[in-house]
Amino acid sequence: MSTHAPKGVGHLRGDEPFPAAAKVALANPQLRRNLQHATTTIRGKSGRVIAELPDWQELRSAGSALKAYTMANLPRLLEQLEEKVTAAGGVVHWAADATEANRIVTDLVRRTGEQRVIKVKSMATQEIGLNEALEEAGITPVETDLAELIVQLGHDKPSHILVPAIHRNRSEIREIFLREMPGVDPDLTDNPPDLAGAARRYLRETFLSTRVAVSGANFGVAETGTLAVVESEGNGRMCLTLPDTLITVMGIEKVVPAWADLEVFLQLLPRASTGERMNPYTSMWTGVTPGDGPQNFHLVLLDNGRTAVLADEVGRQALHCIRCSACLNVCPVYERTGGHAYGSVYPGPIGAVLSPQLTGVEDNSSLPYASSLCGACFDACPVKIDIPSILVHLRNQAPHPRSEKAAMAAAAYAMDRPRVYERAQKAARIAKLLGKRGRGLPPPLNGWAASRDLPEPPAETFRDWWRGR
Ligand code: SF4
Repeated sequence: MSTHAPKGVGHLRGDEPFPAAAKVALANPQLRRNLQHATTTIRGKSGRVIAELPDWQELRSAGSALKAYTMANLPRLLEQLEEKVTAAGGVVHWAADATEANRIVTDLVRRTGEQRVIKVKSMATQEIGLNEALEEAGITPVETDLAELIVQLGHDKPSHILVPAIHRNRSEIREIFLREMPGVDPDLTDNPPDLAGAARRYLRETFLSTRVAVSGANFGVAETGTLAVVESEGNGRMCLTLPDTLITVMGIEKVVPAWADLEVFLQLLPRASTGERMNPYTSMWTGVTPGDGPQNFHLVLLDNGRTAVLADEVGRQALHCIRCSACLNVCPVYERTGGHAYGSVYPGPIGAVLSPQLTGVEDNSSLPYASSLCGACFDACPVKIDIPSILVHLRNQAPHPRSEKAAMAAAAYAMDRPRVYERAQKAARIAKLLGKRGRGLPPPLNGWAASRDLPEPPAETFRDWWRGR
């Protein structure tokens, strides 16, 4: 039976609903400046490299079709992946939820006798709260992706899938390093190369003295049992090759049928995410190779609500996500609130459809409303996930806000009665002349109009035009 992600473990539920959390974020002008600068830069870079490919739309269609095929054949492909990984010397573990996955990873680390693990940036391990579980067991996790390291040292939460410290500027990062990074130069400046150099020195030492690594996976190839991680800094490559033991936590939806399918995804992902033509580091490994790389490999296959998402024929598209974050970078809501307001490790448009489905809509019922339904996310998504349709589908399962219900009831009443409708049109024109654009509406309708402008009423209605003839 499919179940949702359990409460009390992991990071899929926020402390407060989206509107309350967004209010706090909107009151922070520095945050908005940081976000606007970062998302505009990434959007521009990505748009330029996408425009270079004449077959970008065909690639998107291929990615979408491959994901749909994968979801339709998920049980068989996962069993094939298990068989291939096992045959290549790896050990596969199945985790029904976050609690079980945390227990499996903690036990595996304990069995090595080590007290510290190095980590490759991974959304799945953030989702299940693995760092907290390891710390509770007396094991220190060290994030090695630069942005994740900034978030970890700042005792903060990531606010973007790809750029977790997007809400921080360089002087804030310098302060965090001076306060928290062991052995940091007290004269450190906020010059980006100096900040990167400080992180490199600290991380090099950690890479060379840690025997266990934990990673996620961007893809797992059923045909060959190969796992793949793509990243930009080379920290992932260090984690995946230097330690004796490698533990990979992978969401079950990350499986792809065949090796050749990577050709599609490895073109889509870098252009849509970081605006690069190819990922600077693409690491792939198949089980264990004697004398080369980690000699113990464990793959933890994570469900944590994914089977429940798969059971919903409309919502299951959310499982097609390749975590490129393009939808975040084009979303007008995300650009103003940032990621923390979403309460989940998955922010932005994809978070608004994935988190409520993983937890059950009742636990994240405000998220499907964290969108203007403008459709920019659908246009940007490299695997063509129709996020607006899923949002509407989920809104129909969540309680509608009072103001929206009242607005829709009033619209239905007026549209059913031609005379009332005509008077409403006249009133809208008068409101326009008074420059109110809906802000003079009575409660609760003024709540709906507080963050939206009503459409400009036309200078002449169809009825007036008709009467004139
Ligand atoms: S939903 Fe699409 S655009 Fe958004 S992160 Fe996933 S793959 Fe990228």
